[in-house]
Amino acid sequence: MVKVLVASRIHEDGIKLLKSSGVEVTYVEEPPENELVDLIKGHHGLIVRSKPVVTRRVIEAADQLLVIARAGVGVDNIDVEAARERGIEVLTSPEATVTSVAELAVGLMLAVARKIAFSDRKMRAGEWVKKYAEGTELSGKVLGVIGAGRIGSIVARICRFGFNMQVLYYDPIRNPKLEEETGAKYTTLEEVLKTADIVTIHVPLMPETKHLINEEKLKLMKKTAILINTSRGAVVDTNALVKALREGWIAGAGLDVYEEEPLPPGHPLTTLDNVVLTPHIGASTHEAQARAGVLIAEKVIGFFKQKKLL
Ligand code: NAD
Repeated sequence: MVKVLVASRIHEDGIKLLKSSGVEVTYVEEPPENELVDLIKGHHGLIVRSKPVVTRRVIEAADQLLVIARAGVGVDNIDVEAARERGIEVLTSPEATVTSVAELAVGLMLAVARKIAFSDRKMRAGEWVKKYAEGTELSGKVLGVIGAGRIGSIVARICRFGFNMQVLYYDPIRNPKLEEETGAKYTTLEEVLKTADIVTIHVPLMPETKHLINEEKLKLMKKTAILINTSRGAVVDTNALVKALREGWIAGAGLDVYEEEPLPPGHPLTTLDNVVLTPHIGASTHEAQARAGVLIAEKVIGFFKQKKLL
């Protein structure tokens, strides 16, 4: 019988689907590495979300493992190299969460541009900050998209058609469909940073994208610009960003992801009024989680069917 260890909370419909397809499911929520090393034995499949971390040690401890499946996007918690060396397939369900992440990016744009979070904070403290809360409209502004893949393209469409924004984008791979649909202009990273009023980042974290936005790049941005990052924390050099926000190189930022998660209490970012912070909730909607759980279960079942094990 095919045994799958579900090591993170996925939607119950996904678990039901696995069981009704004849898979034996073990469910342990986010076990620490030491526990996972023992648990993984005897399992043919492992399903995780952004946690737990599937280290080389875990992979090498597995004796039956054929597939590691990540419900959602991003495999930075999986040692893909170690999996590849042992012929273990790595599956993801990135399609499931893209709309939710894109909507959060737009939400952060509004929260920063209209000082929504700042105003809310002050209201609760009993302050009526009307005169300090003058914001800027998104309408008619230039949106700069860095990484025009699935999420970047949705953000571009929402901003183009929802706010009549002009779209500029940079991506090593050109996206003709996006250009046709939205009139987006393809340009260099530097040009995006220099020209855009709102810069939104949607690249994967890879060695080439680590600190893609550093001190030098932040200095290219307009003083009035807003930076949105819902991709991965390490794409932006946090220390440089704190400096940029403190010293007014840019006007504000909206962040969902951090180099260190959870963001340590008292982190300099939490002391700045021109930044809006959310705790990596891009994919945290009912719709995205339901889709991610079901989609990953379907992919795992498909994998075992192909291997004629189901
Ligand atoms: P995708 O693979 O569809 O798109 C990524 C795009 O980035 C691709 O078009 C790729 O060509 C481009 N790219 C690669 N290197 C680049 C570079 N150096 N400069 C510019 N562009 C580059 O991915 P996606 O599904 O759109 O996801 C984008 C990001 O969102 C990922 O980092 C993912 O981890 C993150 N994400 C975050 C959350 C969250 O909860 N905040 C949830 C899901 C995904």
